Amino acid sequence: MRQRTYLSPTLRDVPADAEIKSHQLMLRAGLIRQTASGIYSYLPLGKRVLRKVEEIVREEMDDAGAQEVLMPAIQPAELWEESGRLGDYGPELMRLKDRHQRDFVLGATHEEVITTLVRDDVQSYKKLPMNLYQIQTKYRDERRPRFGVLRSREFIMKDAYSFDISQEGLDASYDSMYDAYQRIFSRFKLDFRAVEADSGAIGGTDTHEFMVLSEIGEDTIAYSDRSTFAANVEIAPVVASYEKSDESVESLEKVETPNVKAIDDIVSFLNVSKERIIKSLLFIVNEEPVLVLVRGDHEVNEIKVKNLFNKAIVELATPEQTKEHLNCEIGFIGPIGVPNGIKVVADHAVAAIVNGVCGANEKDAHYKNVNLERDFSISDFNDLRIIQEGDPSPDGQGVIKFAKGIEVGHVFKLGTKYSEALGANYLDENGKSQTMIMGCYGIGISRTVAAIVEQHHDENGLVWPVSVAPFDLHLVTINVKDDDQRNLGESLYTSLKQNFDVLFDDRPERAGVKFKDSDLIGVPIRVAVGKRAAEKIVEVKIRQTGEMLEVHVDDLEKTLQEQFKKLV
Ligand code: ATP
Ligand code: MG
Repeated sequence: MRQRTYLSPTLRDVPADAEIKSHQLMLRAGLIRQTASGIYSYLPLGKRVLRKVEEIVREEMDDAGAQEVLMPAIQPAELWEESGRLGDYGPELMRLKDRHQRDFVLGATHEEVITTLVRDDVQSYKKLPMNLYQIQTKYRDERRPRFGVLRSREFIMKDAYSFDISQEGLDASYDSMYDAYQRIFSRFKLDFRAVEADSGAIGGTDTHEFMVLSEIGEDTIAYSDRSTFAANVEIAPVVASYEKSDESVESLEKVETPNVKAIDDIVSFLNVSKERIIKSLLFIVNEEPVLVLVRGDHEVNEIKVKNLFNKAIVELATPEQTKEHLNCEIGFIGPIGVPNGIKVVADHAVAAIVNGVCGANEKDAHYKNVNLERDFSISDFNDLRIIQEGDPSPDGQGVIKFAKGIEVGHVFKLGTKYSEALGANYLDENGKSQTMIMGCYGIGISRTVAAIVEQHHDENGLVWPVSVAPFDLHLVTINVKDDDQRNLGESLYTSLKQNFDVLFDDRPERAGVKFKDSDLIGVPIRVAVGKRAAEKIVEVKIRQTGEMLEVHVDDLEKTLQEQFKKLV
């Protein structure tokens, strides 16, 4: 490709509204341009990277036996009504009407469409299992589109859906996608972890998120420093055990604590450690008030509360609701003397607190020397807190550390949720009708490009892994006005094109501009034709290492092949 007429507009300055490196570099290297908030165009370099990423995903999906299809972006709203999601999905779902005022949505995901497709065309167990995938544009009206294509409103996703006749079949389909994802993200040269995620069931292993480790990630991963255990902090079970101290039990005392509400304020005002404080939070669980207790240095995990009450809707009580149920301000609530209708649940750590501190359910007052059984009782203790760094790893090996991650992929066992709602059945061996068992598997193609950039750049620009680089070689004629340089550049372009994807900088620009652009674009190997053109000697630079070699053109192909071998 000749750069003189190539649409690769580079920018020297960092665009003001781009906060993170990948967004800045994708704009600066001329990969993308914003068309509207969260909506992007891909310029030729960006499109080439997308295509490489898609090709690797396609190869691995095909290899795993999945079949490629292409479904429409526009979907009839009735389908979403049938599955029961039209209301649930909320404002993230983009909606539109056609000229006959019929309701449509822009596909945010494709469970409804694929399930009806399979329902209508697959009737017998003999056709199953089946796994169908597509690489297609999705629409989600995100509340906060940001970070360029990392969280956008229109984006490209690979989504696959498996259909099985048994739970074991689903497990096998899931494992095969899990393994394909391991290969895919390894081929992108990403430092990633497959982490257990929230599926509604505590500690379940039927959903994993593939997380690229990165400071700018929105998710926090809890991982073991000694084993492969990794889970989203949202769901990681806590297996810590707590020793009850043998100090003597003191008598209960109510103390005045004017305006002392926050845990840190209680610590300094009453001169107690956080571990002694019984932190009490009032939640509204399916419209019923529930008081949740954790230790002062711990945080309540709302997903665990939700799961304790069978996936109920859980919300923190507002100041008004707190007043209504406990007749008190939020900062002073506690488990002593709670009205009968309010259920009290507690995290395991609370059971070990001796002579604790809690709110007195009265403005500007707390209790000291609070002791379980004597002062209040709890019917059962549960794991209700968020895991912390230093906690023992749930698999019994090592301790927990935290890392930030960007979710690039997600595998999920759906079960019969959609097949039941939409009637995707098949006839089994005995001619009996059964419901298909489904799984779904997503990869954010465009987000993956941004994640690769986050992990593969330096202060001068992009440093593409060979597998996804827009070109293999950047051939640069340093001075196109020089006949030797121009002629050698042209002849190398013709010959190198046979075996490599070549971006050819034939622009009449200054050397400094050309080299800066070349580093910014980050093609793995640069071949510069300069002062020694008359001797047929060119300079080869490896982008990743900065290594430079002077090579005679007769040895060029061989040298390049060797260098590529080292890079992959
Ligand atoms: P997130 O928690 O980041 O919003 P999600 O759980 O909504 O993601 P899924 O519905 O599982 O995502 O979609 C599959 C994949 O699509 C995600 O793993 C992610 O890589 C990608 N993806 C989701 N939302 C976006 C977005 N707004 N922009 C770019 N990629 C996205
Ligand atoms: Mg989302």
